[in-house]
Amino acid sequence: MTGASNTPYFDVVVVGSANLDLVASLESLPKPGETLIANGYAEHAGGKGLNQAVACARMGARTAFVGCVGSDDAGVMLRAILEKEGIDTSHLVSVSAPTGRAFINVDKHGENAIVVIAGANAFVGTEIQLQLPTSRVVLAQLEIPLETVLSVFESARRNGSVTVLNPAPASRLQPEILALTDIIVPNETESEVLGGTSVLFGHGVATVVTTLGAHGATVETPSSTNHVDPFAVTPVDTVGAGDAFIGALCSEIARGRAVLDAAKVAAVGGALATTVHGAVPSLPTLQQVQQAMSKQ
Ligand code: ADP
Repeated sequence: MTGASNTPYFDVVVVGSANLDLVASLESLPKPGETLIANGYAEHAGGKGLNQAVACARMGARTAFVGCVGSDDAGVMLRAILEKEGIDTSHLVSVSAPTGRAFINVDKHGENAIVVIAGANAFVGTEIQLQLPTSRVVLAQLEIPLETVLSVFESARRNGSVTVLNPAPASRLQPEILALTDIIVPNETESEVLGGTSVLFGHGVATVVTTLGAHGATVETPSSTNHVDPFAVTPVDTVGAGDAFIGALCSEIARGRAVLDAAKVAAVGGALATTVHGAVPSLPTLQQVQQAMSKQ
């Protein structure tokens, strides 16, 4: 590792999942017991960890990805995709379990229903020892073991990094994780499962950024509430909106921006992601976000 000992080497370290996404386009989402014929099919790199790492890198952050893939073709493909985005993969470990998969159904309105198979992601920090490179921001989600999120945030705090948690998929969390979280970024469903903003503050979270889909976002601290207006777009597929929002938020925070200002940029990133199909293909670059903001 290069860089002075007290200088974070990365802007953002993402500790999370990497999946191969299998995406079916349908008229409507299947009901229990129903079999539908898809209108279209595509395979993309995915997983909240990988998506958010790519979102950070496209927003100009020096980004490292810490996680696990299988020793299979999908694992080789995901590593190559991360590297093509300029993301450091020296802490991406290949394990014997298969690479994670996500089965994504998208209806004609852009609504989605997703099933995730953890595979290699279940090994992150449990079967393999994690090494956390130093960074300004450490970002985690809940597609890896929760005990790993806890130990990652403990090291992040020791290193003086800002800890950002995207509590997705929705899950109740042990208070110890929340006590180590500087900024939590739930959507409305996730916020409800966690018991709402006041519960999060009660456990020691400093800032809650709640994403509200087409209604934008809110940024709350125990003493302030601010609404972030949505950026007007015509959505075609909401997959990746949350990931684009969080990637932009973390990159801007790593640049030293206040959370509210970072969330305004993130709202543009999230909105732009809804205008393109898929997750990784839809994540905007810093240049695209800046261009959109200049037209606001
Ligand atoms: P998730 O995909 O995690 O459920 P959201 O749907 O809340 O997340 O979207 C994340 C962010 O993306 C929102 O806070 C908002 O800023 C932006 N966004 C999502 N959908 C739209 C939309 N239809 N129009 C404008 N902005 C959107």
